[in-house]
Amino acid sequence: MADYDLAIIGGGLNGASMARDAAGRGLRVILLEQGDLGAAASSATPRMIHGDLSVLERRGFLRVRAALAERNTWLKIAPHLVRPMRFAIPAHSGERPPWLLRSALLLYDRLASQPGLPASATVDVTHHPIGNALKRPFGTAFEYSDCMVDDSRLVVLSAVDAAVHGAEICTGARCVRADRGDIWRLVVIDRGRRRVFTARALAVAAGAWSLTVAENVLRQPPPRAAATQVNQIVVRRLFETDNVYVFQHSDRRLIFASPYERDFTLIGTASRAFKGDPAIVAMDASDIAYLCDAANRYFRERVEPSDVVRTVSGANLVLQPADRDGSIMFNARGGKAPMVTMLGGDVTTSRLRAERAVSHLTPFYAMSPRWTATAPLPGGDFAWDRFDQEVDSARERWRFLTEPQAQRLVGAYGSRLADVLGDARDRTDLGPGFGPELTGAEVRYLMSHEWARFPDDILWRRSKLGLTLPSQDKEALAAFMAASR
Ligand SMILES: Cc1cc2nc3c(=O)[nH]c(=O)nc-3n(C[C@H](O)[C@H](O)[C@H](O)COP(=O)(O)OP(=O)(O)OC[C@H]3O[C@@H](n4cnc5c(N)ncnc54)[C@H](O)[C@@H]3O)c2cc1C
Repeated sequence: MADYDLAIIGGGLNGASMARDAAGRGLRVILLEQGDLGAAASSATPRMIHGDLSVLERRGFLRVRAALAERNTWLKIAPHLVRPMRFAIPAHSGERPPWLLRSALLLYDRLASQPGLPASATVDVTHHPIGNALKRPFGTAFEYSDCMVDDSRLVVLSAVDAAVHGAEICTGARCVRADRGDIWRLVVIDRGRRRVFTARALAVAAGAWSLTVAENVLRQPPPRAAATQVNQIVVRRLFETDNVYVFQHSDRRLIFASPYERDFTLIGTASRAFKGDPAIVAMDASDIAYLCDAANRYFRERVEPSDVVRTVSGANLVLQPADRDGSIMFNARGGKAPMVTMLGGDVTTSRLRAERAVSHLTPFYAMSPRWTATAPLPGGDFAWDRFDQEVDSARERWRFLTEPQAQRLVGAYGSRLADVLGDARDRTDLGPGFGPELTGAEVRYLMSHEWARFPDDILWRRSKLGLTLPSQDKEALAAFMAASR
């Protein structure tokens, strides 16, 4: 008998979503991630849970409807990570005419079959707070509802849920060889130690590494795919309102400027072909200038490349001919052990696509029914429109929390916050502090429950506190984590 029913290579959103789905359907799952969970493309997404207006423009009505249905699902199962927001598109005289934008948004409202979020509206920005940050000529904007998500925490909490359902999650574990017979035999370098085990089926969700995994690990012809990198920039906060701006750039692309971690604004995305090592995806000066230009067409406050405090980039593969929906390939030819490959796709439909990918295995196993659309992710067992009450309750219970601190903690841990803060009555009960926000208690929790091993795992993926943490605190954090291992 094989050691596992399903081994998964890759701990990005696709791999973690498959692990969650399969473990909850009763399979014995092992997830192998060579670095940290979500450290690659999955923490560099545009952070949107949406129907995607650009798809609507290309008349992908069914796709938009399916994505908007998934938006509702996410609000139900991850109300801590997924926040509804108002998006505002200022009408620009040189771009799409206002009647077209208004009609598109009315259709967008209709395609969101289950109402719940406010409908789209026309706004006179000369008398509306969203106009405050915009240049003078803008008189009208169109508002609509969509959601933002903490992408890297979505990966981590999917893995946490997979583990709750019995999956073994291995970070720092690189699969170097997978031999296929009637079962799979895998060789893994697991934190420096060679480990060999067997699995009845294999799932590959190696993102931009899929070509090298095919060639070097599976020793198969690689899929015909091209790598693309997606780029975003982080600058100081450019607007006070709690909405996302959607700007039409001169090449007709839609550029988003969204609130990012309280004091910052995230501007993206720009994408282009990628070549090189997927572990090192960097933006060049022209990528940065492109996004600054987009912001400067609309915002009063100028954004210069020197204002960029962080770049956020990731690469992934798109099958040729280009398949924006992402791809799922399944193969169990000639009685050989099954293999499913999941490539690309967006965050919004990741749960659904993982469900479809795992469902390919139903002829091979007795599996329980699909379940992930209704079961909350860890900490997400409250209604999405009660987020503010959850924050208030947290502040009543832990009176030392400020409003922004409670917002961050509820947004990250939801109803599991008690597991992080326990019965602390004062901040000093939470151990040493690292910067104004991070405490020893949170660090220990992330190490023991969410596989954090190094400071960056905490500062850039399980939180974004790296944006504000002074460098001496980072050294103290590294020392604390080393001593806590
Ligand atoms: C051009 C483009 C545009 C996109 N636009 C959007 C968008 O608008 N909206 C949106 O929501 N999403 C978008 N995405 C999708 C998003 O970036 C990712 O595709 C998604 O998060 C899923 O990523 P993944 O899990 O496949 O890959 P990744 O997150 O890159 O994960 C792959 C993981 O596999 C691991 N790995 C590789 N080889 C091995 C090995 N041998 N052993 C162990 N581990 C290994 C890597 O370390 C990595 O962590 C876009 C993607 C692309 C390419």
